[in-house]
Amino acid sequence: MNYLAQRRQTLIRGLKKDKDGLDAVLITSPVNVTYLTGFTGEASYLVLTPKTAVLVSDQRFEVQVREECPEVERGQELDLHVRPHNKTTPEAAVEVLTKSGARAVAVEGSRLTLGELDALRELAPKLTFVPQNNLVEAHRAVKDPSEVERIREAVRVAERAFKMFAATLREADTEKDMVDGLDAYIRRAGARASAFPPIVAVGERGALPHAPPGMKQLGEASKLLVDWGADLVYKSDITRTLRSPFGATPTRRNKFERVGYDFEEVYKVVLDAQNAALAAIRPGVKAKDVDAAARKVIASAKLKSEPEAKLGDYFTHGLGHGLGLEIHEAPRVRANSEDVLEAGMVITIEPGVYIPGWGGVRIEDDVLVTRDGYTLLTSLPRDLSAAD
Ligand code: ZN
Ligand code: ZN
Repeated sequence: MNYLAQRRQTLIRGLKKDKDGLDAVLITSPVNVTYLTGFTGEASYLVLTPKTAVLVSDQRFEVQVREECPEVERGQELDLHVRPHNKTTPEAAVEVLTKSGARAVAVEGSRLTLGELDALRELAPKLTFVPQNNLVEAHRAVKDPSEVERIREAVRVAERAFKMFAATLREADTEKDMVDGLDAYIRRAGARASAFPPIVAVGERGALPHAPPGMKQLGEASKLLVDWGADLVYKSDITRTLRSPFGATPTRRNKFERVGYDFEEVYKVVLDAQNAALAAIRPGVKAKDVDAAARKVIASAKLKSEPEAKLGDYFTHGLGHGLGLEIHEAPRVRANSEDVLEAGMVITIEPGVYIPGWGGVRIEDDVLVTRDGYTLLTSLPRDLSAAD
């Protein structure tokens, strides 16, 4: 059986039938339709019963469905229902559901709006629609080999783009120039788009973990933080913190950034924290313990350049997140997470230290949890050489 059919089977078999007697699933969110069919367009629903899988789409997407879903083209496990233009997608989906003999239909509680749910109930008063949270998301946390390969490709493309970006930096570039440039390189390197709007934060702007790009120029500071990713349906998410090739002279640094914290010292703490987290990764480990491993290194760090500094106060976000069709998905890798790592999960490990008035250092890599530990999917250097 192919991976897509396998995913649909797992979903339908995992239905919580106990009290509701669920006998069908209606998938309405584009990302979960993609996960279960391979189709990457919009405005299409998937109807699943124990025996049938029907993608409800319209004429705009007919060719694309046949291109992206070989199962439809071969007339195998997945059927295509092209709705007439005078019917809406919900109307057509309800028809397919009724025809299948379904009675109680699981819908995506964490995706459907209340209005959409009401509309479905009005269209089909005889069907029961039962919202279930994370209906598909829970299954997406563990990737199959085909998904891991697609994330690897998204990482490769992002890394190619970053090399082009780093080679073309100019002193007068503003954050906005650099974001625009990086975004173009990401597409030129082979992505359909950036996985999210890239972050390029110059100097003390790096103290904002998600800094929006402004007009600050590269030559005005000694360092910059870059967070970017490629969208090839599956996504990548990487951060590197660099020394500015133009702004590193002491006079400039004195002029533009609060002196005190030594870049190399802070960088090394963040790198040690990332290494401690990586060393803790293996199946069966709680995600919050991986977060704790990194947090402990940062909280206990003593800096020569700022002996009073408590860096633990400056690591202000969770250690990482699952990565796949979406940039943030299960599992959660943070202090309050109840998730347990399993082989096949793909997560980011991204400790950071954000010092107001000075800037930030974050190092973010994409990691596959394996049977005996982990594999780094990113290959750009992480040590201090990466900062030049
Ligand atoms: Zn990121
Ligand atoms: Zn991230």
